[in-house]
Amino acid sequence: MTGSVHAAIGATIGKYIRNKPLAFGAGVVSHFVGDVTPHHDLSAAEAPLVLATMLRIGQQHGWNSSEFWGALGGICPDFEHIPYELKKDPRRFEAMPEKWFPTHNGQVEHAGWRWDIRWGVVMQIVLFLGGLYLSGTLGKAKK
Ligand SMILES: [Zn+2]
Repeated sequence: MTGSVHAAIGATIGKYIRNKPLAFGAGVVSHFVGDVTPHHDLSAAEAPLVLATMLRIGQQHGWNSSEFWGALGGICPDFEHIPYELKKDPRRFEAMPEKWFPTHNGQVEHAGWRWDIRWGVVMQIVLFLGGLYLSGTLGKAKK
């Protein structure tokens, strides 16, 4: 999934698992599930969207909420892409043995999208907005 989808799903998990460390761990597991599910990925250009999503989740639920911790767990496996992205490593879009996450180092296949890309994009948008909706991140902040 794209990072913003991982974040939205992680926030939803955090809403239902009210325990922060557990929400973080479940967020990491959801990253794995998201990566093995067929999906269409965006490039590193989506980083600002991930950041905006995290800011919105923190603003809505609080920076030390289970929603925020779930979202952080959902995106943190992808942090290991950053150094290779910055170095523009030519292998960065493939499985790399240096990486530790099973769907990033090739131990488990990172699923691609074999169908029309438009449907892949639609699926990401639906999961993104659905996750934000289910986690209660859309709408007014509760004060
Ligand atoms: Zn990933």
